[in-house]
Amino acid sequence: MSLTVVGSIAFDAVKTPFGERERMLGGAAVHFSLAASFFTEVRPVGPVGDDFGAAEFEVLESRGILTDDIERVEGGRSFFWRGRYGYDLSVAHTEDTQLGVFAEFEPKLSEGSKAADTLFLANIQPDLQRQVRSQCAARLSGLDSMNLWIETAKDSLRAAIAEVDCLLVNDAEIRQLTGESNLARAARAVMELGPCAVVAKQGEYGAALFTENGFFALPGFPLEDVRDPTGAGDSFAGGFFGYLDGHGGGLDEAHLRRAMGDGLRHRARLLQRRGVRDRARLPAQPRGDRRALRGAAADDAVRRAAHGIAPQPLNGRRRRTERMSAA
Ligand code: AMP
Repeated sequence: MSLTVVGSIAFDAVKTPFGERERMLGGAAVHFSLAASFFTEVRPVGPVGDDFGAAEFEVLESRGILTDDIERVEGGRSFFWRGRYGYDLSVAHTEDTQLGVFAEFEPKLSEGSKAADTLFLANIQPDLQRQVRSQCAARLSGLDSMNLWIETAKDSLRAAIAEVDCLLVNDAEIRQLTGESNLARAARAVMELGPCAVVAKQGEYGAALFTENGFFALPGFPLEDVRDPTGAGDSFAGGFFGYLDGHGGGLDEAHLRRAMGDGLRHRARLLQRRGVRDRARLPAQPRGDRRALRGAAADDAVRRAAHGIAPQPLNGRRRRTERMSAA
C-alpha cells in the first residue's frame, strides 16, 4: 500500500509562551508524512526553494519517506509560516504566510505518486488540491484545510471537498465552512457535498468522527509536556490515514474507529518531541506500549462508556452509493 500527500512543505517561525524558534522545518505535508511513515510508504508532493537543502531531505528520508516528488526550484523560496500561540496551545495565531514557490506550482505527479492507493490533500490552496486529485487514481482520499482558504477560496474548497471520501478539519472550521454552529448538522452538511466521513479535530480534547451510520469520539491523551503544538493536527491526520492505508484502505466503521485511536496515539507521541528533526528520530513504538494504549483507547465498549453514548444512526441520510445511483 502507498500514500501520496500534497500540502505545504515549509519553514516555520513559532513563538509560544515557553520560547521562540525562528526557522524550523515544517509544513502540513511534512508533519503528515512523518506520522504516516510509521504505517506505510509515503510520497509527499510539492515544491521547495533552494533554501531547502540536503539536511531537510535527510530528515524525511531518515523515516523512509520517498522524496522524488518534492521539486526543488532553483532561485525560489520555500513556503514560510510565522505563528504564535498563547497559553491555549490549541489556537494558532498566524502572523505571516508566504507561499513562495507554491504560488507558481503546477503539480505533475510521478507514476509512483499517481498510482498510490491513498491520497491525502493536506492544507494548501484548494485549486492545487484539486489538480493533484485529478491526477491520482487513489481508492481512498482525504482532505484538510484551514480558515484562510475558507475565507479566500470557499467555492474552490467546496469543489475540492466534493471529490474526496473523508474531510478531516478542526471543528471550528467545519462550522465556518458550512455556516452551521451545531457540529452534527455541520458534519451532515459536509457529507451532502460528497464525503462519506467527516473527522472533526478537537485539539487537546481529541477528535470526533461522523459517518453515514453514526457518531464516535475519542479523547486526546493528556500530555503534561507539550512545548510546541505545531503540526499536531497534521500528525493526527498522518496517523489516521497512515493506519487506513497500511490496513487495506477500507472505510468501514471499525477501520475508521481504529484509525482514530492510532491517529491520536501518534499525535501524542510526536507532540512529546519538539520540532520535526527530533520527531523524526522517534523509534517505532515498543509492543508493550502499543498494547497498553490500544487497551485504553481502542476498545469500543470503553470508548462508548467513557462518552456515555451508543452509536447513533444519522436519521434520514442515504448511503453515498445510493445517492450516487439516484443522481
Ligand atoms: P497544524 O497541524 O495545524 O499545527 O499545522 C501546522 C503547519 O501548517 C505548519 O508547519 C505550517 O507550515 C502549515 N501552515 C500554516 N499555514 C498554512 C497555509 N495557509 N497553508 C498551508 N500550510 C500552512
